[in-house]
Amino acid sequence: MGDAAPKSTLPYPPIHKDKKFVVLSDWDGTITTYDSNDYMTDNLGFGREKRRELNIEVLEEKMTFRDAFREMLASVVAKGYSFEECKEILRKNIKLDPGFKEFYAWCKANDIPVIIVSSGMTPTIRAVLTNLVGEESANEIEIISNDVDLKPDGTWGIKYRHPTSGFGHDKSQAILPYRMLENPPTLFFFGDGVSDMSAAKHADVLFVKEKDYGENDLAAYCDKLGIKHILFRDFSNALPVVKAVVEGEKSVSEVLSIGHA
Ligand SMILES: [Mg+2]
Repeated sequence: MGDAAPKSTLPYPPIHKDKKFVVLSDWDGTITTYDSNDYMTDNLGFGREKRRELNIEVLEEKMTFRDAFREMLASVVAKGYSFEECKEILRKNIKLDPGFKEFYAWCKANDIPVIIVSSGMTPTIRAVLTNLVGEESANEIEIISNDVDLKPDGTWGIKYRHPTSGFGHDKSQAILPYRMLENPPTLFFFGDGVSDMSAAKHADVLFVKEKDYGENDLAAYCDKLGIKHILFRDFSNALPVVKAVVEGEKSVSEVLSIGHA
C-alpha cells in the first residue's frame, strides 16, 4: 500500500536544515485528546460502530485509509452539516493533550521545530488549534495535512494531499526529506492511530499514544510489524524522554528499549 513518492497536490513548508532534532506529530487523538474526525463521524455522521469497523478494515489492510476516511466524512455531509458548522462544533468539543503546551514551549526554547503532520484538514486544525493554544502559537506551528474541497452547492469533501496513495496523505513524505540531509536530525514522531501507519517506520523515535477509551490502533500495528516504539499517556510524560535524548543522557536505542514513557 502507498507509493514510493506520490505526487503532492499541496505545498510543503521548507525543510528545517541544520537542526539536531525535529518533532513531527499527528494532530487528531495525539495533540488533541480525541480525534476530531472520529468526533464528527461518531456524533454527526454514521456513528461509532460503523466508524470502528472501517478503522479495523484499515488496520488489517483490507481497505485503504483514504477510502475509509472519505466515507466517514461523506456520512457527515450526508446528514446536512456544512463545513462551517463542523468547524464550530469541533472548536467547542475538541480538547488539547494536557501536556502539549509545556512540551511545545520546551521545544521552542530548545530550537526544536514541532510540525503537525495530519490526515485531517488544515482549516479545522487551525480553527481548533487557535482556540486551544491562542492565535500566536497556532500561526507559528507548521501544519502538513490534507485540505477541504468546498463545493458550490454547500457540500464539502476532503482534498487529499496524495490522492494516488492509499494513505491519502502519506506521512512518510514529511519525514523522508530529513533523512536525505547531509547531517540529518534525530526525528521524533508522535501518533496514535491508523492515519499514522505511513509514518510509523520512518522516525528515529516513535511515540505511540495510549488512550483511556482504547482504539490504540497504531500500537496494534506496530506490535504486528515489530516496529519499536514508546507508549505514552500524554505529552507531559513524553517530555522527559525527549529531554533525555536531546541532553544526551540516553541514546535513541536506550529509550526505545524501555518502550514506555
Ligand atoms: Mg490520530
